[in-house]
Amino acid sequence: MSSNEKNNDHLLQAPRGTRDFVGDTYDRKADFYRQAEAIARGYGFTGIETPVFEHTEIFTKGVGEGTDIVDKEMYNFTTAGGDRLTLRPEGTAAVMRAYIEHGMGSMPQPLYLYYTGPFFRHEKPQKGRYRQLYQFGLEVMGGKNPMYDILTIKTGYNILKTSGREISVQVNTLGSVSERQNYLEILKKFYQEHQSQLAESDQYRIETNPLRILDSKEPSTKTINEKAPLLQDQLGEASKAYFDAVTKGLEDLGIPYEVVPSLVRGLDYYEHTVFEYVTKDEQGANSLALGGGGRYDGLAEMIGHKESVPAVGLGLGVDRILEVAHDDAYLDTSRKKVSIIAIGDKVIGEAIKIAGIVAGSGCEVLMQATD
Ligand code: AMP
Repeated sequence: MSSNEKNNDHLLQAPRGTRDFVGDTYDRKADFYRQAEAIARGYGFTGIETPVFEHTEIFTKGVGEGTDIVDKEMYNFTTAGGDRLTLRPEGTAAVMRAYIEHGMGSMPQPLYLYYTGPFFRHEKPQKGRYRQLYQFGLEVMGGKNPMYDILTIKTGYNILKTSGREISVQVNTLGSVSERQNYLEILKKFYQEHQSQLAESDQYRIETNPLRILDSKEPSTKTINEKAPLLQDQLGEASKAYFDAVTKGLEDLGIPYEVVPSLVRGLDYYEHTVFEYVTKDEQGANSLALGGGGRYDGLAEMIGHKESVPAVGLGLGVDRILEVAHDDAYLDTSRKKVSIIAIGDKVIGEAIKIAGIVAGSGCEVLMQATD
């Protein structure tokens, strides 16, 4: 093989971290979307589709500098006209941009929105991690009441249950922005005092994003974290009451949940409720995150709106859901398959006519010609 041919080998493979959906993999994804949309619509959500790219600042200001997504994972590009754009790494900030742009705040509140589609993160490709990933998202915009948090969690839970897997919810509160700010100062001071004992990869986060250190998987950091101050001790009565209402709602609905104080979700726009859905991996050991979300009352102002828009939402990881789902979860077997073979050119027209009648009765027709 010439070196030229060899160099071109990669052209015939999808770029790293991306894949093709064809046959069963296509059908299962489509069926997941069909079921998820039906459930979301049942709870009053309607669809929204935003562009796959946005102005870069929507994400740098919304998701926040110092987060993995913004610092390392975004696909940024500059157009011939000089616009700085980014392939969307997540959905919430773009949906909020659309809400503001179209003055949706003057419509009856809150708005219940869902979306589906591809998102882009330049992550190290590995099992279950893609650079073009798919999410199903829900956003309730323009409402501040624990009911909306509970309803969002419940709708996502019902969608995930279609996978046939045991699902549980990890939930936490980040308190209000000022409580969190206060806490961040306390936390920064604590980590500064223990800087040399932290894993090296965590030390630089003390200034940029100390909350993320709480999430660290590094053994030395984990040991320090056992003594770290807790946000829960900085919460005022109102924040505690809000969170109690959310957990009581989950209890009333019989949704299995656990309060996990180290859950921070690592995106700047979250406050008060944050949550993640988990299921056990195949060995029944580690828990695998299938999606997550939270409340983001300050996001609208972060991306330049004059008023805050109280809102709560979630994103479900479609790739992972399809990977862990039971075999029969997303196979739509309700439509009968009918094979029609046209024997000889003379009957082609008649055969296609018959195919139309059969398809019209709700079957899937597969036609073949004898050549
Ligand atoms: P996040 O909002 O970042 O927690 O993403 C929500 C869900 O999307 C996660 O719980 C994962 O299931 C899924 N997800 C995130 N990043 C990726 C990725 N690179 N590849 C596949 N799924 C992902």
